[in-house]
Amino acid sequence: MRFFIPIDRESVRVNPRAGETTMRVPGRPEAYFLLVCTPEGEDRLARHPGPDVTALLEKYNLQHDGTCPYEGSSGSQMEGVPSVKLLALEELDKGEVQAAAEKLRECVEGVLEMSFNLSVPTQVYRVPPGKPYFYDYVPTQVKCEECGREFMHTELISDSVDFNEGCAFTETKCPHCGEWDCCEVTKEALTSEMYPQEDGKR
Ligand SMILES: [Zn+2]
Repeated sequence: MRFFIPIDRESVRVNPRAGETTMRVPGRPEAYFLLVCTPEGEDRLARHPGPDVTALLEKYNLQHDGTCPYEGSSGSQMEGVPSVKLLALEELDKGEVQAAAEKLRECVEGVLEMSFNLSVPTQVYRVPPGKPYFYDYVPTQVKCEECGREFMHTELISDSVDFNEGCAFTETKCPHCGEWDCCEVTKEALTSEMYPQEDGKR
């Protein structure tokens, strides 16, 4: 038996991402701390040992990048002070890192100026261009030629089987008896008359 499945005219809508070939998704968050010695801090560090930043970082499980030298306000590198550009964490919990940053700020206050930046880089993937319109089909009653049950076409099952010479594919497997091609459906094709009016309603 053959069934015609019409497009729901009210459902036709513009795909806002039609034709786009890239998709942007958030990547792994990264946190950077930069500690810079203040002029007063240099005086203090000359007289007293500096805050044990390394120990503090380890306590909060923050990792050194290790490539960026600690800078004095004069731009000179200072000995005995840890590297300060940090890369946080495999599985970064934003709240935890922010809390750690506040502790770090308290600890170094008056000696080091701290800037802190938490960022989520964007990764761009290439994707096939999207169709210009989305639409749905009107749920339509169909009937299995094998078991005689009647049901909506939306219940039809898609399935595929691999053989040595190739594969077979169906979109009309019966949800009740499992008959492979249980009925014949023709889906209506979208035509320009069905496009939504440009009145902003859809
Ligand atoms: Zn059936």
